[in-house]
Amino acid sequence: MYKATLEYAQQLDKEDQLSYLRDQFHIPKDKEGNDWLYFTGNSLGLQPKQTQQYIQQELDDWAKFGVEGHFEAKNPWMPYHEFLTEKMATIVGAKPLEVVVMNTLTTNLHLLMVSFYQPTKTKYKIVIESDAFPSDRYAVQSQLKFHGFDPEEGLIEWKPREGEELLRIEDLEQIVSEQGDEIALLLIGGVNYYTGQYLDLKRIAEIGHAKDCFVGIDLAHGAGNISPELHESGVDFAAWCTYKYLNSGPGSLAGLFVHEKHAYNKGLPRFAGWWNHNKETRFNMRQPFDVMPGGEGWQLSNPPILSMAAIRSSLDLFDKVGMKALREKSERLTGYFEFLINQIDTDRIKVITPSNPKERGCQLSIQVKNADKSLHHKLTEKNVITDWREPDVIRCAPVPMYNSFEDVFRMVEVLKGLL
Ligand SMILES: *Cc1c(COP(=O)(O)O)cnc(C)c1O
Repeated sequence: MYKATLEYAQQLDKEDQLSYLRDQFHIPKDKEGNDWLYFTGNSLGLQPKQTQQYIQQELDDWAKFGVEGHFEAKNPWMPYHEFLTEKMATIVGAKPLEVVVMNTLTTNLHLLMVSFYQPTKTKYKIVIESDAFPSDRYAVQSQLKFHGFDPEEGLIEWKPREGEELLRIEDLEQIVSEQGDEIALLLIGGVNYYTGQYLDLKRIAEIGHAKDCFVGIDLAHGAGNISPELHESGVDFAAWCTYKYLNSGPGSLAGLFVHEKHAYNKGLPRFAGWWNHNKETRFNMRQPFDVMPGGEGWQLSNPPILSMAAIRSSLDLFDKVGMKALREKSERLTGYFEFLINQIDTDRIKVITPSNPKERGCQLSIQVKNADKSLHHKLTEKNVITDWREPDVIRCAPVPMYNSFEDVFRMVEVLKGLL
């Protein structure tokens, strides 16, 4: 079906109804002015051209109104986070009540664990994937320690089987059915950052809940990449950053999801600040704390507007295009990428990401024989931007917002040349 020629790749771009979007992003260029082949939108998404105006608007209003900008700005800062909620909720398949944009990802995971990691003497263990992102692992270990448990003993790793790279859901099922009485929390990456495997969130929720464990999902590699249908999945909570697939700029704020079933539970333990206090009485000052329902009930501080302006810009683009169209293109783009890689006659590389499009997002993880990191260096020298993840993987993410079929074709030509 696919063909491994430049003409064919260009033909696919012509037929692609989303190809116009590329021009709405700043694509980094080499010294000769040629676009980089940028495959690291899974690490830092590119900048939408319109983001500058969104941020400029807030700078102008700050200059013009000072503190009055909280009410007088074109987009008043007081409720500014609310402008993001609906579009963000749509991207992750949640109800607006369940979602808020605040803080950064690891911070949100901690705040969520304040509420959803409530260990007892006998039920205290936490399950993560063995290839969990380091920040998640450190966060979980520090929570165990904070509650007085041994972080080694209290951590259960869901591992791929010997000789395999991917996780099997039935192995999680076995862990929870055997040790569920001791497990308080499952905290799992919805799309694994290393392998690109997209897990079945609904199954994970069912497995955890069958043994009264809370279930949380890190969606750093899912938000803006796949359509996780968070509400429907039934997971208790989730968090994700917005600087990867959501193109909102380095270190930008994160998303948080708490399922509706917990939205009105004022009894959940949580940390408090003025921003999760009832907004009707927030400025009456000497009021006793009265927590807001839903995701907003986890905020602490008034948020950084300049960063939120960049998120607004990005969400407006996502809203215009829709995850459905993006996902359709993504499956084709990554499918073409996989096809081309499989044409290379070599045993030096192997794609470890699932080949079933339903079990992955756009990223392909290419395992390099003998952990030969020089291949990644050489790609970079040729302006093919990918990233190397220890021990032996080059991660490549063709992003449907701005990568083209031609990018994919050219990238694989370079790779083939190096092999
Ligand atoms: C990118 C990423 C992080 C980064 O966390 P920050 O708090 O935003 O620095 C954490 N976890 C996962 C799974 C990630 O992919």
